[in-house]
Amino acid sequence: MRIGVFCLQGAFIEHIRMLERLGAETFEIRQKSDLDRTFDGLVIPGGESTVIGKLLGDLGMTNDVRGMIKSGMPVFGTCAGLILLARHIANDPHVYLGTMDISVRRNAYGRQLGSFAATAEMKGIGTIPMTFIRAPYIESVSGDAEALSVVDGHIVAARQGKQLVTAFHPELTDDTRVHEYFLNMI
Ligand code: GLN
Repeated sequence: MRIGVFCLQGAFIEHIRMLERLGAETFEIRQKSDLDRTFDGLVIPGGESTVIGKLLGDLGMTNDVRGMIKSGMPVFGTCAGLILLARHIANDPHVYLGTMDISVRRNAYGRQLGSFAATAEMKGIGTIPMTFIRAPYIESVSGDAEALSVVDGHIVAARQGKQLVTAFHPELTDDTRVHEYFLNMI
């Protein structure tokens, strides 16, 4: 199985390490021509959604990536990746890829609670450690999108078809189960 990891900005190395630890092959997506390769899934890492979103646009990749995802290419977005996949962002006028029927709030925990750790249940997996870094949360899901985890009353993981998102960073923990869940979706 080969997974393309967006390496435009953010925490991509950690995803690559975790996916390879699970036996998947990975390659870095840095420019439009990288999308011509053959792959079975995509990972959009955490980082700064405004920066990754702008780079996707400047590099001419937004429409292609959106089209692939709409045609069923499995994708896993963490944190900023979740924001990029959302159809609506409550506190940002942009829509980037907009393929998932979720409404999200960026930097939703404010400055003081910008980063924190939690342990909570994720549907289909069990209890997992969760690392939040200036995280968004999902205000609502609609259509076929399903909430998979709720922490302190806020949705922090969701799935819609072959799209998986987490507001937290499983790649920054030692627990491989969310990545395994993604690989099993493929
Ligand atoms: N705060 C970032 C944003 O709005 C997301 C943070 C992250 O990916 N860790 O894009």
